Amino acid sequence: MRRPAPPGRIDVVVDRDPDADTDVTVYLDGAKVTGSRLAVHVVDPGAGGPDHEWFNSTTTHAADVPEAVADEIDSLAQGYHDRHACRDARCRALPLADDRTADNLL
Ligand SMILES: [Zn+2]
Repeated sequence: MRRPAPPGRIDVVVDRDPDADTDVTVYLDGAKVTGSRLAVHVVDPGAGGPDHEWFNSTTTHAADVPEAVADEIDSLAQGYHDRHACRDARCRALPLADDRTADNLL
């Protein structure tokens, strides 16, 4: 007999196959979510520090990505990309984490 899922429960199953791609399966209320309702976002900087091209592609979102999701992805990407060393104008315009802390102290 199957256990019913409590309403609103979301389960995410991540299959990290060491010899193949990572697969993600999402269940909402115990039912598998498929098709256009499912959007998977992977923030994977890889080894050795991601360059600006990675940062730019990771923080460029489709129009239907919810703002809160885009903000979360952007925050993660900013944590991985070394913007101190980046010469791109977009990175130079963004406040660095250290700068935000300094602003909060004023
Ligand atoms: Zn950059």
